[in-house]
Amino acid sequence: MELLKQKIIEEGTVLSDEVLKVDAFLNHQIDPELMMAIGNEFASLFQNEGITKIVTIESSGIAPAVMTGLKLGVPVIFARKRQSLTLTENLLTASVYSFTKKTESTIAVSATHISKNDRVLVIDDFLANGQAAKGLVSIIEQAGANVSGIGIVIEKSFQNGRSELDELGHKVESLARIQSLTGGQVTFLEEVHS
Ligand code: 5GP
Repeated sequence: MELLKQKIIEEGTVLSDEVLKVDAFLNHQIDPELMMAIGNEFASLFQNEGITKIVTIESSGIAPAVMTGLKLGVPVIFARKRQSLTLTENLLTASVYSFTKKTESTIAVSATHISKNDRVLVIDDFLANGQAAKGLVSIIEQAGANVSGIGIVIEKSFQNGRSELDELGHKVESLARIQSLTGGQVTFLEEVHS
């Protein structure tokens, strides 16, 4: 997605060979027009999958997921990373190792909102080693629902996540694929379209 790649080049900061900061438009300040374009792009990529629900993880997955839900006309559920006084019943949980925080945490979704008949699209902001996405997939499977696709805003293709998700056999679509962050430079993966 050209608009996203341009934004990464213009407003992203490479913090190390492994970490990209995009607080200017996705992880802290949010660019609503870009989010809408991202939602439209995910909606068109997954329009034939019969999606009935979107599942993401707080907090940075919420903006792209909501825009996608708006376009597809389906509800959006976000997994919580912290315990909540109001989220106590019928909890589906998964343990996720955080790439950025380097800590293990439990993410939770109430089973109330996912049924066996749902076809669920997973959305997240970044794909590094695939832990967050795999945690969401596990929660959807615990609910007996179908994982009908995974949409990632920024994939760091030099890390393991993409191959881990491909191995699960799901349709994975990333809007920007980064081949390398070496030397403070963002290099995108050349994609061959047939
Ligand atoms: P994974 O679970 O795939 O290892 O890591 C994905 C999660 O870690 C995302 O939800 C995102 O919050 C965070 N993350 C991973 N890599 C980056 C990065 O380079 N920059 C930012 N801002 N977040 C990242």
